[in-house]
Amino acid sequence: MIDTYGRKITYLRLSVTKQCNLNCAYCKPEEGTCRETGLLLSPEEMVMAVRAAARLGVTKLRITGGEPLLRKDILPLVRDFSAIEGIREISLTTNGTLLASHADQLAQAGISRINISLDTLNADKYKKITGGGNLADALAGLEAALTASFSQVKINAVLLKGFNDDEIFELASLTRKYPVDVRFIELMPLTGSKMLENAYLSADAVTEALGKIEEYRQEGVAKLYRMEKGLGYVGLIKPVSDNFCAQCNRIRLTADGRIRPCLFDDKEYDIRGLNEEEMFEMFREAIRNKPEQHPDLLGDFSCMRRNMNEIGG
Ligand code: SAM
Repeated sequence: MIDTYGRKITYLRLSVTKQCNLNCAYCKPEEGTCRETGLLLSPEEMVMAVRAAARLGVTKLRITGGEPLLRKDILPLVRDFSAIEGIREISLTTNGTLLASHADQLAQAGISRINISLDTLNADKYKKITGGGNLADALAGLEAALTASFSQVKINAVLLKGFNDDEIFELASLTRKYPVDVRFIELMPLTGSKMLENAYLSADAVTEALGKIEEYRQEGVAKLYRMEKGLGYVGLIKPVSDNFCAQCNRIRLTADGRIRPCLFDDKEYDIRGLNEEEMFEMFREAIRNKPEQHPDLLGDFSCMRRNMNEIGG
């Protein structure tokens, strides 16, 4: 479906759970901030919702969360999504810590691309930013992803001044070691975390750190570069310094059944308890009302009602 501003909406990000086994500082709220709870959609409702979205022209589905691999029924859920007419590609975003035992089966169930979040290669720093996570588990997940039959493996690193800006070269160099893309994402002001008060860093820091590097091409919202001897690309995603609202082709569905047409706009459309036809109409309404753009995130942007672990990153 084409929205009011001429954008073709083809991409749905579905959060299948709010739960996460990590507690990343930029993702989850500090106690007492921006929290809201609600009943989750049933698996049947999720499948119905994806079917309704596919009928409106969604071809690409990203499964996210929370941590999607915490769901015991993740494999049958992926299989059901794969069987939906019109869905041509299913990808999954994970912190990778539970991936080692799931990678093969996920690929067989229908996940073609996988994104693993990894902000540092230092075990102590990993523990700190994730609120207790174990770097070795994430790296084991990465290794498993590389041997499974995904068509693409990407690493997502949120750029954090004073935390991982000294690791840009090392993280980017994973593209020389493995056939992966490493994508640096600008920190979006979501959690109001004190630890990250001054941590925003423009993604231009990456090209500065990597020295002479040529832009290769634009791929969706990412600008791609290739390091010398790189097997994959280094990508820059700049939601803050260079917002891509004009090219935004996505909508989101939260685990508790709210369609969210724009990540930074709290207006949501509740599909809980609806049948497929009603969900179809609700998606249509949500797409029609997708805002032209979100507020300037470097300006006076205040905390949203919800955080990424609830909305789905
Ligand atoms: N648990 C999974 C994971 O860790 O990838 C999926 C959910 S997580 C919300 C999805 C992505 O959102 C991660 O790559 C994470 O780095 C990104 N993310 C969360 N909060 C963010 C923020 N404030 N700014 C930029 N990216 C953020």
